[in-house]
Formats: sequence, structure tokens, C-alpha cells
Amino acid sequence: MSDNLIEVLVPIPLLEKFSYLLPKHIKSSLPLPGSRVLVPFGRRTLVGIVWKTNSSPNLKIKKYKYIKEVIDNEPLLTKDLLDLADWASRYYHHPLGEVISYFFPPSLRKGKDAKFLETSFWDLTNKGEFFQMEDLSRAPNQQKALEIFREKGELAQIAAKAFGITQPTLSALEKKELVSRHTRELLPYKKRGPLDGKQEIKKLNAEQKFAVDSIISSEDSNEVFLLNGITGSGKTEVYIRAIQDVIKRGKQALVLIPEIGLAPQAEERFKNFFGERVLSFHSAKNDREKLDAWLGASRGLVDIIIGTRSSIFMPMKNLGLIVVDEEHDLSFKQVERFRYSARDIALYRAKLQNIPIVLASATPSLETLNNSLTKKYKVLNLTKRATGANLPKFSLIDLRGKELQDGLSSELINEVEEQLKSKNQVLIFLNRRGYAPSMICKSCGWVSNCERCDAHMTLHKRPERLQCHHCDSQKQKPSNCPSCESNQFESYGYGTERVEEFLKKRFKNFPVLRVDSDSTRKKNSLENYLGIIKEGKPTILLGTQLLAKGHHFPDVTLVGIVDADSGLFSADFRGSERVAQLMTQVAGRAGRDKKPGRVLLQTYCPEHPQIEELITGSYERFARNLLIERKAAKSPPFSFQAKVQAESPNTFVSRDFILDLLESAMKIKKLPKGLRVIGPLPAVMEKKSGVYRWEINIFSESRKSLHEFLDLTQTILYLPSTSKKVRWSVDIDPISLI
Ligand code: ADP
Ligand code: ZN
Ligand code: ZN
Repeated sequence: MSDNLIEVLVPIPLLEKFSYLLPKHIKSSLPLPGSRVLVPFGRRTLVGIVWKTNSSPNLKIKKYKYIKEVIDNEPLLTKDLLDLADWASRYYHHPLGEVISYFFPPSLRKGKDAKFLETSFWDLTNKGEFFQMEDLSRAPNQQKALEIFREKGELAQIAAKAFGITQPTLSALEKKELVSRHTRELLPYKKRGPLDGKQEIKKLNAEQKFAVDSIISSEDSNEVFLLNGITGSGKTEVYIRAIQDVIKRGKQALVLIPEIGLAPQAEERFKNFFGERVLSFHSAKNDREKLDAWLGASRGLVDIIIGTRSSIFMPMKNLGLIVVDEEHDLSFKQVERFRYSARDIALYRAKLQNIPIVLASATPSLETLNNSLTKKYKVLNLTKRATGANLPKFSLIDLRGKELQDGLSSELINEVEEQLKSKNQVLIFLNRRGYAPSMICKSCGWVSNCERCDAHMTLHKRPERLQCHHCDSQKQKPSNCPSCESNQFESYGYGTERVEEFLKKRFKNFPVLRVDSDSTRKKNSLENYLGIIKEGKPTILLGTQLLAKGHHFPDVTLVGIVDADSGLFSADFRGSERVAQLMTQVAGRAGRDKKPGRVLLQTYCPEHPQIEELITGSYERFARNLLIERKAAKSPPFSFQAKVQAESPNTFVSRDFILDLLESAMKIKKLPKGLRVIGPLPAVMEKKSGVYRWEINIFSESRKSLHEFLDLTQTILYLPSTSKKVRWSVDIDPISLI
């Protein structure tokens, strides 16, 4: 019986793979690895993926269950993607059954057919062709319809309706076997043709040309490129031209972008160049659109997929190039459940498929920079702005001893006024939404703490409420102090709503657009804002990091950074890297086109070495210095890190669990040399969303010994008794300490 025992992956958080028998009646078509089947699991029926077709029997299992149904005749995933899933599952220590579900869009996970929308059509049968018309004399509608069929041969549903043939008539003809009904997939894309974009082709500068040529000449080999170009240096133009070559060779490209907000802009630019065979894939697409993109990509009908994080799992029939734009961006890392980095999976996918990959950034992550310094990656530098504009000039505004108006100094306000009068646009950057980060009672010192987190609740004015930005819980703003009944409150600190209120009062004749995750919650609202900005009228743009990333604002001449100090004193060793990236990216929105740009940073620490380095505008020098610090401290990228965290409503339970875990693992095997375990310690924010979190952070110079240690802990974590005690997570290459 072992020859028809089939190993199936089911989407549940368990490490085991499950085997099923193939019932006799479907034995004729053995489902191959990568195809979907329906299997009984407990009392449920699940959609599973065939992993192996000749699994060896487990002697402990007496009676195997039967596969209920084979959904796909052909595998939906190819061998290299199955291998990629296997690698990702082992690297991230995450169950393969859940990992593999990321390779499918929602409707395929639910077991729907892997097909485009289908349409019905009717064909004249042999019998219909030679049927005696007189025999239908008592049914004139059918007679008329049959005549039309004799003329046309075949009619789709819409066409039949247009000829006045009703559904009952069709059914009647079908019953008499005069016509027969079929279905056919409707292709939502044009077939392959010549490139049909309409944009004029730009003349590349020497650096761009060198970059494009280098990428093109590495076709069919696994070269990794760091496209290291300052903001506005024409990186996008470079990879568009490299992709043009990929498509000419009949292959496809996958472009990962960090932010869904950037998708419309990127899609438009690609469509201008390449025409309609470009599709975007992200969470705002509905199930049908996601499936259509998936089918198009996997059948080779679509040339380019532009998408956010999860697109890295998109099957592509003939992938020729992967681009990860803004590779340093944190949104490529998923921070819950399957904690993968799309950039790192992209690197491995390129290796498996033996194709080149381009990582593009003006502010490369320290890992990537280090890999380029050690010559693992090839660096393509773009040192000038493509439009001929200069990088903006930086100046500091020393806030010490100064009177501020809602967080803004008079120097900054005056400069905003100047620029607006000169008909320019201004961008004010403050990475904090809401009105004020906390609310304090003036008479007793009560603070708006969140009951579920070690954090303050932020005061919001529109609509008025207190909201925790860590657990999202909300409550009404109290009219009297819960502790002393006083009604005198102070709003402490500044958020975007507060600065917006001030700017609207101060600059009555100019529009103020606040762009943050509150103001852009509604569908298309970000696109609407971007549309207004594009009109180029003098406007104040005020926003969080949503505005910092990748946008091209040709009329912005001034960027004002309200609070340059916020990341300098972070508890996280990655804090400085993040601040430097964010500041450089925001600054990069200024002076991108014909008008020169300026950046003003408000700070209380003008002498801080990191602030000094930033205003000289060289991210790379800053980053290289950070690398020296990281090397001395043996922090990533000079070691590999993993974090194991446990959470429960009782802090002692979480702590003891992590303590026991470490002890039990060490009992099985001594800690390998070069492995540093830090903790058990409470998480930097111990209480979050009503649970208490304890963790260990493991650092190792060898990936192998790190993974051996994690394998040990894994056997304990997956014991059934564990889930009764705590919720836990394993995070490989975590991106934050908090
Ligand atoms: P990045 O991706 O580095 O931010 P982009 O590719 O968006 O840069 O280019 C910035 C601006 O420069 C865009 O408006 C783009 O159209 C323009 N641009 C890019 N390359 C050239 C070129 N070779 N000649 C003229 N303009 C260019
Ligand atoms: Zn009070
Ligand atoms: Zn909270």
C-alpha cells in the first residue's frame, strides 16, 4: 500500500507533514507535487498541497485517511518554487504547510479553480446542422434561433442575447441536442505583441548606461547588484531599461516595492513604458484581480509584476530578473506569523533560478552595504541627479532656548512663507501622527497611559479620542481628570494634527495637505493627495514617513524636519541606521527637478556627531561608520541574530517559559562556541496589548550553529503542552529590538 501514500502539506502551524491514501477511483491520475487536494483533517476538510507522491509509511499510524478530491490535474508550483518554500521554512523555522500557502492567492487557498473567468457559449451540433426545420414549426423561437446558429456556428452568451435568443430557447435546443453548451476562459490580458508603451525614450547618462549594460550582460547568471544611487539619480530608469531587455528576450521581471502607496505611481510609469502587460499585486486588489495576476504570471501571459512584499512568492513562467526597490525598507519584513524578509527570499530565489537580481536604494541597509564592500554584490553607483539638479543643501536650526509655535521655530516658519510666496511647494516632515503623543493633568500629573501597553495614549482631535498606537485601543478623551477631577489638561508634544492646525491658521491662503495613515485610510485618498501635489500649485505637504518614500515631487523646494532628534537616543542598536535612512529619504524629496532644494533640520543637539554627519549629506559615510561600530560590537551584519519571545497575561509565566526553554535546550546539548544568548529579559516594551513579553536574543557568528540551536528549541516549542501556557514566536534576522 505504500506506493500510493501521498504526503500533503496543510495550512496549520504544525511541523509534521501528513500522509493520505489515494482512493482507487482517482488512482488513474496520480496528483503530482505542487498540486492541490482536498483532505480530511480532524473534523474539517482542508485544501492541501501534495509534497511527495511516494511517502514511506509511519509504523505508528494504523489507519491512513483518504484524499477526498484532487483539485488540479497539473501541479500549480514548479520544482524550484517548492524548493524555495522548503528553504524558507527551514531558514525561518516556520511550518512548511503555512509557508507554502503564501505561494497561492486567497481564492486558490480556498480551493477555487485555477482559471480565469469563464464564459458560456453554444455550438451547433451535427444533429442541429441536419435537423429538419419543419419539425420545429410549433416552436418558432427555436426555429429562428437554429437558423442563426446555422449561420454563425457558435454563439457566446452575450451574442445569443443580442440576437434575441432567450435562455429558455437555448435550454430547449440543448435538450433536443441541437446545440451543445461549453465554457471557455476569458483572457483578461492582451496576448504578447510588440512593446506598446508610448513614452519617449530618455537618453541615459554615462553612469546609468554602465549600470544598464552591466545588468544586461549578466543575464542567465546569479549576479547580485546593488544599484546605489542618490535620490532622484534615475535608478528606476535604469531598471526599467534592464527589464526592457529581459522582455525582448521573452522573459519576465518581478519588481518589489515597499509601500502599497507607491504602487499606482510605479504602475503608471511602467505602463507608460511597457504598455498593458504590466500588473500590480498588493493587498488592495480583490480576490479576482489577485488570481488573474497570479494566473497571468504563472502562465507567462504577463511580462512584469510590480508588487509589495508577498509578490516574492508569485510563480512566474520564465523569470529573468528580480528588482527590489528601496531594498533597505522595513516593510519588506513581515513582523507576525511567518516572519520572512521578502528581500532575502528574493536573493535566494534568484540564486535558485540562476538569474540576476538588482537591489536599489539611495540608503542601502548595512547588511547590503557590507555585502557590497566584501564584493559579494556588484555595486553600480549613480552619483548625480538624473535631471541635472543638485542635491539639496542642509542647514540646522538650533532649537536651544527658542520659543516654538506648536513645534515650529520662527526660522522654519519664515522660510516656509518665502517659498510659498515664490510659488513653490514645501514638505514638513514629522513622523508622529495624532495631535499630541500624550495628555497630562496640570494639577495632579495624571498621564494618559494605555492600560494594555507600557505606553501613553496619543491625543487625536479629528475625531476626538485617545488612542494607543501600539494596541490600537481607543477611548473618549476625559473631560475631567480621572484622578483629581480637574479639567485643566496639557497636550504634551506634537503630532501631525497639531502642526496642521497651526499651519492652517498661519497660512490661510495656501492648502495644507496632511498625509499620514489616519488621513489616507480611505481608498484612493493617497492617490487624490498625490494628484493635488502634482498640479504644482504652492502647497504645504505635511506628513509622516508615508511622504518620505520614493515619491517624485518636482515642485518641492523646501523640506522642514520638525524633530531630527527623535531617533538619536533609541534603545535599539538599529536606531541610528533608521534615522539616517529616513532623513536622507525625506531630504531627497527636495529640489528634484529644475528648482534647487533646501533642507532645514530642527534639533536640540546640533553638536551630536550623527546630526553633523547627516547634514554633510553623505549617507554612505555615515553608514560605513556605523559598520565599524557594529563590527566592534559583533552585531549584525557581523553576526546572525534570532529572537525567541513568549507572551502571556502573566509576566512570570512568560519569564519561566523562556527560562525553562533555554535550560532544556542546554540540557540536550551544550551551547555551541561563538553563540551568545542574551536574556531571558523582558521585551523593551514588556506589556503590549494586555500581555507580558519575555525573550532571548541569540547572536552567532555562524549561521549553522544558530540554526542548530533553534532546531533544539523548536522541538520544545512545538510540544502540545506549550501552546496551553504561552504564545511564542521565533524571529530570524529581526528588524527591531522593540
Ligand atoms: P530614482 O529612482 O533614483 O529616484 P528616477 O528614475 O525616478 O530616480 O528619476 C528621477 C527623475 O529623473 C525622473 O523624473 C526621471 O524621469 C528623470 N530621469 C531619469 N533618468 C533620466 C535621464 N537619463 N535623462 C533625463 N531625465 C531622467
Ligand atoms: Zn489630575
Ligand atoms: Zn496599548
